[in-house]
Amino acid sequence: MNVTSPVLPARGVRFCFALVTLGWVAMVVGWYEAAGRVRVEDQLSWTVLSVGGVSAVALATVTLVLAARGRVEERLRFLLASMEEDDYPASWTVTVEGIGTLVAAEGMARYHLASCRLTHGKPVRGMDRLAHEAAGRRPCGVCLRATSAATAARP
Ligand SMILES: [Zn+2]
Repeated sequence: MNVTSPVLPARGVRFCFALVTLGWVAMVVGWYEAAGRVRVEDQLSWTVLSVGGVSAVALATVTLVLAARGRVEERLRFLLASMEEDDYPASWTVTVEGIGTLVAAEGMARYHLASCRLTHGKPVRGMDRLAHEAAGRRPCGVCLRATSAATAARP
């Protein structure tokens, strides 16, 4: 993986920005035209144009955010994989209670493997998966995704 490459492909970003611009133009034109008409029936088609503009802006924004998020996770996995295990002296501890090799700290939105680097330096506690999910946590996109992908790749 080339970490110096742009986060998102330039063509995709340009397309999304063009879609956003088009959406804003549709919203402004729709609003302007609808505002100049007295009867609701006459405003309706311009309102539809505005709603279409809002949808285009929302679609482009969601697409950009999802693409960027995926790319950040990919880079983070690459970065963590390239770090040596000895880079971090054991300045942190994991308190494992019961079954748990899955850990999280108070207020964390995701649970991790005890070996995950995203838990280093944090006061994490081990619990089983169901307890984490009952607390509203989701699996880590870095350590648990890598594990499930490796497991799935085995014959
Ligand atoms: Zn993790």
